[in-house]
Amino acid sequence: MRIIAHLDLDAFFCAVEELQNPALRGRPFAVGGNPDQRGVVASCSYPARARGVRSAMPMGRALRLCPDLQIVHQNFGAYKAASRQVMEKIRAISAEVEQISIDEAFFNLSEKENPKEVARALQQAIFRDLNLPCSIGIASNKLVAKIANDAGKSALTSEGKPPRAFTFVPDGEEAIFLAPLPVKKLWGVGPKTAARLAEIGIATIGDLATQDEIKMLRRFGQNGYEITRRARGIDTRPLVMQRESKSISQETTFSKDKSNGDELRQVIRKQALQVSASLQKKGLVARTIKIKLRWSDFTTLTRQLTLQAHTNDTATITQAAETLFNTHWQKGRVLRLLGVGVSGLEKSQQQIGLWDQDWEKERHVEDALSDIESRFGEGVIKRGMI
Ligand SMILES: [Mg+2]
Repeated sequence: MRIIAHLDLDAFFCAVEELQNPALRGRPFAVGGNPDQRGVVASCSYPARARGVRSAMPMGRALRLCPDLQIVHQNFGAYKAASRQVMEKIRAISAEVEQISIDEAFFNLSEKENPKEVARALQQAIFRDLNLPCSIGIASNKLVAKIANDAGKSALTSEGKPPRAFTFVPDGEEAIFLAPLPVKKLWGVGPKTAARLAEIGIATIGDLATQDEIKMLRRFGQNGYEITRRARGIDTRPLVMQRESKSISQETTFSKDKSNGDELRQVIRKQALQVSASLQKKGLVARTIKIKLRWSDFTTLTRQLTLQAHTNDTATITQAAETLFNTHWQKGRVLRLLGVGVSGLEKSQQQIGLWDQDWEKERHVEDALSDIESRFGEGVIKRGMI
């Protein structure tokens, strides 16, 4: 049986700002841009949340809701440093950690004799040693641990202080726990799917859990099958131990739109070759292969598949990319961009010594990139390929 914990720092950016300026404590404030520059709320303190302020809200609106809201400009370097300290603490107690964002991680506690106590002690240590509040959800898989943590946090958020929630879902009670929650809480249920489910009378996760998964497969495709199983609390995904943002890709924008399948497949093969060469050069292996298709009307489709094992083998990557292309390319439809990429990267077993240094370098590059993205928006900068 697996025991997976999900840790999420409470109003993380605000908590770090409070460390630097203790006068902010207990006050309504928000990290983000000025309202006259169309700034939005990146994070807001719990006293601000109690007044209706939410993250991603335009700062102007936040100020109307809470006129004494203090605006603090974000200091991403400090958040990153604090995040690293937290992740180190998690890694000290678990060998299997999947960091999913600057302030969130999954970790495996299956090997622990008393996983609840270990997680409690970690929550307390992060608060005591780093002065950062966090919440933890524990369950038999990632899906339920994350949803449990979110539910535990929101149950306590109205109190105007960090929730420091601790939520445990015992093995066998996953479906019962999920049942009353709205179906949109499940991964794979976006607004569109939620609307389609509502049409057939499915509003809660419990409603979905009672559906026949084969019927759902017929009606909603593969995703219908997946979400029905998730609704019953089933999730077998492993922890992914490398940074998810790490990927290598190769894209080509055509000077003249292309619709010839053979020509396009040739481009795919060339890109797959370049991507695998780049992996080999860096001593890395990948598990997820993706393709990107942009049609002449600029709509873009990305599709990926996850292999059984990590690889940097050219033939395997080429085959995976071609399979994706053959499945998702609509014959005759005109393309203006085509790309192949890989993610889920790990160091290749043969090159551990070399790689450690490269990884450090790589990490600095990644940090610089995400710094820029955090300031100027996602996608403003892209890695080049040699
Ligand atoms: Mg958080």
